[in-house]
Amino acid sequence: MKRMSCRICGYKQELFRQHKVITDELARIWQLKPRERAGFDRRESSECEKCGCSLRSRAIAEAIIMSYPDSQSKLFTDWVEWAGKKGLTIAEINYCGQLHEYLAQNPKTVTSQYRERTIRARIANRLKGIKSEDITKLSYPSKSFDLVLHSEVLEHVEDTAKALAECRRILKPGGICLFTVPLITNRKTKGKANSEPSYHGSGEADNLVYWEFGGDLLKKYRLKVAWADPANYLWVLKLVK
Ligand SMILES: [Zn+2]
Repeated sequence: MKRMSCRICGYKQELFRQHKVITDELARIWQLKPRERAGFDRRESSECEKCGCSLRSRAIAEAIIMSYPDSQSKLFTDWVEWAGKKGLTIAEINYCGQLHEYLAQNPKTVTSQYRERTIRARIANRLKGIKSEDITKLSYPSKSFDLVLHSEVLEHVEDTAKALAECRRILKPGGICLFTVPLITNRKTKGKANSEPSYHGSGEADNLVYWEFGGDLLKKYRLKVAWADPANYLWVLKLVK
């Protein structure tokens, strides 16, 4: 069996673990074909045995490494060290999965979450210094970050244009914003306002899906593809300032 090494921690393993993530209800409402559902299951699982990073987290790491060729990083851990030496300022708008643990090692990373639902989560975040931020009205000053990251956020935000404009506003000139959304490129973006509601994760109100994104998203907002893994429905999109 083919051994693969994790781009984040470097651990070599036979196969990344895969399991079902997409529920029957979500697959039905989203009208996923079996091939698409299997792809999204792989995207959201396939965790590394050692560091626990999902395929999506590893794709974001790949996109970051490729966006900074000067770093000559083999692993994401190398890149984090390089970013620290360079003094790169990073805004992690929401937890980018397990990648958060690595990003947090950079002294100039600011991490936020949006409106934690439970009091316990709110207190835990406050103790860890994690702010609550609304992506459509970020509290950060303009031109303050080299790198802005978010993952699986925009499909839950009503005003896509406003959210992306805010990401652009807080970027320094030459800075980049990298992000993922669930995207099926051969479909058109569909607003969910007048159809059966669907939810991601635990099914609570904050996980309500506003948009089922299609390939037109890229052209509409002039986005570039920083990393593509079409078989696993993984597109890390890039917004350039
Ligand atoms: Zn790993």
